Amino acid sequence: MAKLQVELVTAEGRILSEEADFVLAPGVEGDLGVLPNHIPLLTPLRTGEVMVRNGEAEHILFVAGGFLEVLPDKVTILADAAERAEDIDEARAEESRKRAQELLAQDIGNYEASLALERAELRLRVADVRRRRHGGHPPAQ
Ligand code: ATP
Repeated sequence: MAKLQVELVTAEGRILSEEADFVLAPGVEGDLGVLPNHIPLLTPLRTGEVMVRNGEAEHILFVAGGFLEVLPDKVTILADAAERAEDIDEARAEESRKRAQELLAQDIGNYEASLALERAELRLRVADVRRRRHGGHPPAQ
């Protein structure tokens, strides 16, 4: 069966390089499911969850916006920031969420703070999605 080569990179380096038979990514116009031999396309991404599946193996990642390029045998994601779900530091995301909420409550830097809040909430959600799909312990209280 035809496969996709998936590359997910940020300015800091390569986050994932895998063969896959399905990729799900948060396009700006809606979630995009990509199978091998998809028509070529280029689209900006929302901040959110990326899922890369190869048979039984599944990778879940967080992306903070960027671009998705699809070719018949290749998917490239260039993200502003990205982490594999298992690499997300939930305590850091929780701190970041609190900081952003405090700024918003004081009406300071609303635009930046709302983007930071969105990143933090989606990092926490992606970490949670992974925990529910792959098991594991909830974070310590
Ligand atoms: P923070 O306020 O914690 O810095 P941020 O949303 O401002 O979060 P980004 O600008 O999205 O951070 O990312 C900066 C760098 O830090 C990137 O390399 C990103 O992968 C990493 N990073 C940010 N938050 C986390 C996290 N909770 N867990 C793991 N890596 C993170």
